[in-house]
Amino acid sequence: QIDLSVQNVTKKFDAFTAVDTVSFDVEQGHFFSILGPSGCGKTTLLRMIAGFTEPTDGVIAIRGKDMQGISPNRRPVNLIFQHLALFPMMDVAGNIAFGLQRQKVARAEIQKKIEKILERVGLPGFGDKKIDQLSGGQKQRVAIARCLVLEPTVLLLDEPLGALDLKLRDQMKVELKKLQAKVGTTFVYITHDQSEALVMSDYVAVMNKGRFEQIDTPQNLYNKPATPFVAQFVGDNNAWSGRIAGISGKIATIVTPEGNTFTINTGEKSLTPGSGVDLFLRPEAMVISPDPAMDNLNRFEVMVKTILFDGANSRLLVTPLNSEQELIVGLPQNRQFDHIRPKDKIEIGWHEDSGI
Ligand code: ADP
Ligand code: MG
Repeated sequence: QIDLSVQNVTKKFDAFTAVDTVSFDVEQGHFFSILGPSGCGKTTLLRMIAGFTEPTDGVIAIRGKDMQGISPNRRPVNLIFQHLALFPMMDVAGNIAFGLQRQKVARAEIQKKIEKILERVGLPGFGDKKIDQLSGGQKQRVAIARCLVLEPTVLLLDEPLGALDLKLRDQMKVELKKLQAKVGTTFVYITHDQSEALVMSDYVAVMNKGRFEQIDTPQNLYNKPATPFVAQFVGDNNAWSGRIAGISGKIATIVTPEGNTFTINTGEKSLTPGSGVDLFLRPEAMVISPDPAMDNLNRFEVMVKTILFDGANSRLLVTPLNSEQELIVGLPQNRQFDHIRPKDKIEIGWHEDSGI
């Protein structure tokens, strides 16, 4: 079942197109993220789904029902902002009760619903706590409880973790994902943070300048980006531009402006000799001091500029000896490379299948 369907939705502010012919469907129970840089149109899109602004063009339907002309409070959606907009003067129960009171739900029923939802978000017995007695993570959960208690078809979240410090954000993304899986409500989550989107989502739409560039699973976005923008925006990457010097079977030979020659497996892509290509390589695709016996490897000598130690996510910054280009090389968590120092010359390599 499709909970949310957005078809060819456009939003113009005078001559400026903030959202440009966007289409997507979100299935019931899915965690769907919209990922894109600041200013690309995410909030505008979410506000149209919530009903705060009308699209210039296109159709938004929830469970098959066209939402055009339906006011925000009559739509089966709720919206959570970065600034959670909790009422600081009220206790937790008062915050959660607010929407139910507006719907004229009976007092005893409200009490029951509050207890049940606090249980579900992992805050049992927190009803009479004051908002400013809560930690940042607990406030998040109250904000979510306040929406979920209204049983929306779709919960919309606009960068809700943006105001938290890094450590708490990392914890909250795992918590939010678990919470969503538990309650099963359809989430549409917007963020400019690729790691949030990748970690939490079933599907991610990558948005750039008002348009969707790719809608896919996190794995496919990372491993098979459809456009150069997606390749650059999702995950770290090394980018090369070059020209195709020749193709033999599926193997293309690429010559870069500095005169480096690589081979790549073109896979399903059809490339023409003589045309330009952008090649992207993930840091973890780069092999340090590759075994001389490894076949089909592009090898070259580089100088180590810096070692970026970061536990399991450690990297080397290196430059090829014949160019200024800086490359990021994944440093496997393996003592074997502990001896590497800045200014060392090392060989790196990458397999012709690993370009994207
Ligand atoms: P994001 O949430 O991705 O950061 P927004 O949807 O807030 O982006 O904004 C997208 C673009 O639309 C921005 O250039 C912004 O200045 C513009 N914009 C948003 N709302 C309005 C408005 N009410 N009037 C004019 N321009 C707007
Ligand atoms: Mg925004």
